[in-house]
Amino acid sequence: MIPMLDLTAQLAEMREAIDAGLRDVLDSGRFVLGPNVTAFEEEVARYLGASHAVGCASGTDALHLALAGLGIGPGDEVITTPFTFAATAEAISYLGARPVFADIDPRTFNIDPDCMEAAVGPATRAVLPVHLFGQPAAMEAVEAVADRHGLYVVEDCAQSFGATRGGRQTGTMGVAGCFSFFPSKNLGGCGDGGLITTGSDALAATLRQLRNHGSREYAYHEMLGYNSRLDEIQAVILREKLKRIDAYNASRRRVAQRYTQALAELPDVVTPFEGAGGVHVYHQYTVLLPDRDAVAQALREAGVGCAVYYPRPLHRQPVFAAAAASAELPVAEDVASRCLSLPIFPELTDTQIDAVIRAVRAAVLG
Ligand SMILES: *Cc1c(COP(=O)(O)O)cnc(C)c1O
Repeated sequence: MIPMLDLTAQLAEMREAIDAGLRDVLDSGRFVLGPNVTAFEEEVARYLGASHAVGCASGTDALHLALAGLGIGPGDEVITTPFTFAATAEAISYLGARPVFADIDPRTFNIDPDCMEAAVGPATRAVLPVHLFGQPAAMEAVEAVADRHGLYVVEDCAQSFGATRGGRQTGTMGVAGCFSFFPSKNLGGCGDGGLITTGSDALAATLRQLRNHGSREYAYHEMLGYNSRLDEIQAVILREKLKRIDAYNASRRRVAQRYTQALAELPDVVTPFEGAGGVHVYHQYTVLLPDRDAVAQALREAGVGCAVYYPRPLHRQPVFAAAAASAELPVAEDVASRCLSLPIFPELTDTQIDAVIRAVRAAVLG
């Protein structure tokens, strides 16, 4: 069986360093927001070229806190993509604001800036592009729309750690960048974790307060905050993995290149779009197929893992139906009906890659 993802190989390679770090944490008795979290925040900020990095409990919380810190609330609208994980839109709804879904680019699967602009209305306060599957969104055009209408740009970077666009890291282009360290992400811990980047001193200060019950000084609460903090155990693991993130992303790109070389020649298989003006870090390797479900079944029978991200766009989810009742988003629906993600992780071997290619070829050619 070739799995979609194997999280054990990466840890094995750095096991000694992690064991030593964890022993120090256990001995120190400091488990939440300690020296490893502070160091990790500084190291991420330096790596990304961001002024500030604020750790929190998850990627979902990163989105929630960023929007809260910008004052998004009831009556406001935030424009985002329907082709993403539910958390992107949940964060908007948590604050009583309304997610407005704009259709996607059929090549990159990211929000289409023209559709985004068409969705702007008097209540729009922010746009929330997602760098889906590790492919940076068309940020120059997104920024132009936001500038024309006076909107905040908040980036969902949960799948794009290390991806760049025009030399800029994802997470440094909007007013805030929201990262997830869920184990399966390109930079993943051994539990939940998240982080927000920002260039704004004021927003960074607010975020530090929001993640810690609205408190800046001991036993004094100026605003309604949350309990959303990164812990030392995650920070130890994430600091070790951050040292290797460029190698991980390069390996993912190498796997993707080999898949694309072999699969692009098959009839009816649409391989991931490269050359959209950014460096794709392949959180997922996702193809489009006319008979997706049949191919998925054939792959599973051949012992090759695969997954559908995402079979049902958010405007078709019951939880967002009220917000999106009248949305017509044909590209998102078409892509959702044809997409299939293949195994990708940095440690995938050449033998495994070849086996995946053989199985896809057999499934597609029948
Ligand atoms: C994983 C993910 C999130 C949520 O991150 P968690 O850490 O799981 O809360 C948000 N948006 C996207 C696009 C994601 O892939």
